Parts: sequence; C-alpha cells; structure tokens
Amino acid sequence: MVNLKIDNFDVNVPEGTTILEAARQAQIDIPTLCKHPDVDPSAGCGMCIVKVNGRIMRSCCTPVAEGMEVVTGDAEIVSVRRTVLELILSNHPNECLTCIRSGHCELQDMANTFGIATSHLPSLNKKAELDDSTHSIVLDASKCIICGRCVEVCQNQQNVWALSYLNRGLATKITAAGGIKLADSPCIKCGQCSAHCPTGAIVEYDETQKVWEMLRDPDLFTVVQIAPAVRVAIGEEFGYDFGENLTGKTYAALRRLGFDRVFDTNFGADLTIIEEASEFVERFTKRPESLPMFTSCCPAWVDMLEKYHHDMIPNFSTCKSPQSMVGALAKTYYAEKMAINPEKIRVISVMPCTAKKWEIVRSKDMSSSGYQDVDVSLTTRELCRMIKQAGIDFRRLPEEDADSPLGEYSGAGTIFGVTGGVMTAALRTAYFYITGEELGDINFAAIEGLDGVKEAEVDIKGTKVRIAVAHGCGNVEKVLDKIRVARENGEEVPYHFVEVMACRGGCVSGGGQPRVMMPGQPKPRGITDDIRKKRAQGLMNEDLHAKNRLSHHNEAVKTLYKEYLGQAGSEKAHHLLHTHYVARPKYDKKS
Ligand code: SF4
Ligand code: SF4
Ligand code: SF4
Repeated sequence: MVNLKIDNFDVNVPEGTTILEAARQAQIDIPTLCKHPDVDPSAGCGMCIVKVNGRIMRSCCTPVAEGMEVVTGDAEIVSVRRTVLELILSNHPNECLTCIRSGHCELQDMANTFGIATSHLPSLNKKAELDDSTHSIVLDASKCIICGRCVEVCQNQQNVWALSYLNRGLATKITAAGGIKLADSPCIKCGQCSAHCPTGAIVEYDETQKVWEMLRDPDLFTVVQIAPAVRVAIGEEFGYDFGENLTGKTYAALRRLGFDRVFDTNFGADLTIIEEASEFVERFTKRPESLPMFTSCCPAWVDMLEKYHHDMIPNFSTCKSPQSMVGALAKTYYAEKMAINPEKIRVISVMPCTAKKWEIVRSKDMSSSGYQDVDVSLTTRELCRMIKQAGIDFRRLPEEDADSPLGEYSGAGTIFGVTGGVMTAALRTAYFYITGEELGDINFAAIEGLDGVKEAEVDIKGTKVRIAVAHGCGNVEKVLDKIRVARENGEEVPYHFVEVMACRGGCVSGGGQPRVMMPGQPKPRGITDDIRKKRAQGLMNEDLHAKNRLSHHNEAVKTLYKEYLGQAGSEKAHHLLHTHYVARPKYDKKS
C-alpha cells in the first residue's frame, strides 16, 4: 500500500494505482475526456493534469508514490485545463443544436463546467463524410476528439480491430482501419465504440423518424416489443436509480406514443428456450459430434462467427433471436388470430443493441413470415428520445401490462439480458426435457457475475453437462481455442453448451443503452462494472420473484404450440423460428 496526500486528504491505495484512480477512490473528481473505467489510459486529452509536488503531470498515467502530495485543482491547473478545452473545441464543429448527443455529451458538459461560451481560437474543424454504411452506428470523424476510447474498446475489449487511427498530427482521424467503410470492415456492429465515445462522433443509426411516420399512418397496425435489458436501463434517462425495473411504465409510454399493440421480447425469449433446449437435447442425446452448441441470440456474435469462425458454424444453434421470433409470429400467428392483413402490420423492436438493426436484414430467413419480420429496431436511447419528443412525463405514468398473447413471459425470459441468463434459462428447460422432472435448484451461481469466461458442470441425473459462458467478444477466443485444441488432439470437447454475448455483462450494457452521463454532475462518467451489476440485479430480482420462472410453463407459449406450431422443432417452427448461417469472407483483423 502507498500513502499519499491528495488535496490534503490522506489517501492509502495499492502500489501501481494511478493518481486518477486514487483520487476517484477518495471521491475527488478530476476531469478527463479520454480515460474511461473500461479502458487503459491513453493520455490523449490532457484534461486530467494535476500538480505533483508542484510539477504539472497527467494523473491518468502517473502512478502514486509514497509521500506524494497532489493538488487537483488550483488556479493554474484550471487555467491550463481551459486552454486544453479551447484547443479541443477549435477542432470541433460546435453543432450542439443538432447533435444527437446534446445533453448527454461529455465534451459539452465539460465546456459548460468551464464556462466556455465561445472559443477565441480560429476553427480548424473540417467537415467529414459520415460513415453510416452499417445502418447500425454512424461515425462522424469531424466530432472526434481523438480520445482513443473506441479504438481501445474495439481492438482490446472486443478483439475486432475494425477501428483505427488514420494519418498523423492535426490530420489524425478515426476511421475503419484502412480508411474503408465500416460496412466493409471487420465491424460486428456491437456499438461498444458508441457506448464509450464521449462525444457525438459515434452514435446509433437513428430511425425514430421512420417510426413516427409509421405511427402517423392510419392504415398501418403497429406492434412494438421491448427486450429484457431495456426495462432496467430506461429509467436512467428519467432520473431513476441504476437497475430499477420499469417494465409497466415502459409499456404505458409505448401506448402513449401510439403503438397499437405492446408485446414483450421476453415472450420470444421463452420461445427461444423451448426451441433451443429441444435442439440441445437432440444434439446431446443423438448427435454428440455436433457439440458444443453455441447460443445464437446475439447478432454481433453471429456476425463474428460468420466472418471469423467458419469451423464453428455447424455448432451454432439454428434458433433465431427472441426479437426475430416475435416479429415472425406477429405477422403470422397473431395476424391470423386477429384477422389483420400482415401487409399492414409493422413490427418495431426496442433493443439495448445496435447490432439488432443489422440482424433484422441479415438474411432472407429474417422475412420468414412473407414480409420483413421486424421492420425497425430502435435502441433504448432512441425510445427515450421519442418519449421526450412526445412530452410524456415518464415518472407519472401508471404501471400497465403488455398485450396478450405475445406479451406473456416467465422469469427465465427476463434473464436473457444478463450474461449467464440464456444458459440458466436453457438448462432449466433442458433438464426437464431430459429427465421429465423439474430442477431442484434453478439458480446457477457459477455462471453469474462478470468473470469474462465462466465454466461449470451440471449434473443431469448422473450425466455431466459441461457449460461455458463468455461475454465481451475478446473473451470468446479463449473458449474457441480450448475447443480447437481438443479437436486437434482427438480429445473430447471441453464443453457441451456455450453461451456468448458480445457485450461485457451481456445486453444490460449493450451498445444502445442509455449513456451513463449526468450533465452537471461530476460522477459517474461512463459505465462501470458496478452499474452493470445493478442493471443485472434488476433483471435477476424480477426472475426471483416471478410466479413462473420456467419457459416451458409459459401458458401463452404452450397455447402457441397447441394452436399453431405443433411441437418444438416442427416444420412450421423451423420455417418461422430458425435460420441458417453462411461463411462470409474472412478479414485479417490486424493487417
Ligand atoms: S461497433 Fe463494435 S466492432 Fe464495430 S467499430 Fe464499434 S466497437 Fe468495433
Ligand atoms: S470517435 Fe469518439 S471515442 Fe473514438 S476517438 Fe473519437 S471521440 Fe474518442
Ligand atoms: S450482447 Fe446483447 S446488446 Fe450486445 S451485441 Fe449482443 S445482443 Fe446486442
């Protein structure tokens, strides 16, 4: 441990801690635009300067030392920070009036804090061509402050290497590596770059106007569904605590916006479990050579598989994701039941995710209903924007229920939004399918939490099922390597069933979730594991207190099979609820 003084407070922290981290632990706020809790310091912005024994240094990359005396904000420091900010702003377009990030922008917040109304420096900013080629995220290099967070997250957290710096000095810019379009790059559309960007340089592909137009059209029948993780993050935009579950209010807000039916993706999650658990049991008992089986509900992981891991394609569950299942059923089963012309139905999903925008057009399988199954996929942030545009007072909304039948769900459906949740839900049902009995303890503590790779063995009546859960794409390689080594050596594969989520913590911290940014308040800035845990807990609590915690006991799902699909894995179920994967050209990530 190291003893030092920060602003005259005694601070005691482990050796190797940086001054910035030590200050944060002591509840002392040092401004920074480049250091995010998830990434290593890049020393890019220069805002975090402090005085160490009278000398100005960057606190994000200076380790503490015994007896150090640190001053975090005297007149000279404030003056240098102002100059740094003015230099940054001189290369920024100052388009706050029309920028999506306005009100949630760390640069804007910092400029306000330092009272910089106008910069007296000449503008060096050059308009950049927008890269909206992925239709998931939009990169506007003219708003980039070269903090490096996105590059760090894309390369090191996600191990995708889509983003890179181009040029040098003042001409430096962030772009898809090689200066190509993002859609032609290794990008898997996870949106983690956008979730970590402090400015409006990388944002979600906004489709709110498209949805407003659908809502205005009296000929259309609009159906909306919300993903599990949306309900525990939406409140952050309306002043609620992290992780507060606001399902009922979200349904109410969607009705006020004008949607004709409000469904829940959790219904689709229960259905996914029925199909996926059946698929797993079939592989496990009849086709062990097809193991391990990978979950397939994360589109960024699907994208990664199709681009990089062609040898694993036969191991992928063929199940579509919950949003796609709900979309396909809304335009077939529900349309027939209610005698609505499916041509007039528009399905809008609200997801924590930017990759879901790509998923809905991924292949022709996504139009199995005869129409595009999901017409628009909005992020949680876009829904919040629509609620604010409509002037809805979210806090005063009553709690409402979703519509039947595609709005009914179990606790197992809810936990899809958190790492380990899909596996837990699937095991509950697979156990029942294999043994004909319910599991005694339906919680799997070994696969909860934020360890990058979690492994466990589940005893199903004397048969050991080996499972693994990975989240954050950078962790997936470890699991795949183990499988490949076992295959090469002719050994038994190390796992039978593997869950993968591209985002750290699972969808609760997806690329489309509200930005953890409180204008005018010093903390917190940027999502932390603590916040991920709170959002996850919000979902796990709902499961814990649910009347039904098992997908195979969802009465609406049972009725769907009885009335329409027949049984799990039937021809009709396969046509509507399953998909195929194709090997797409491989990228050399680091070239
Ligand atoms: S969306 Fe994901 S993969 Fe694409 S550039 Fe951003 S972080 Fe990288
Ligand atoms: S795009 Fe955003 S995160 Fe990336 S370097 Fe620029 S400002 Fe930073
Ligand atoms: S983990 Fe969830 S939010 Fe992240 S890319 Fe996958 S589906 Fe989207």
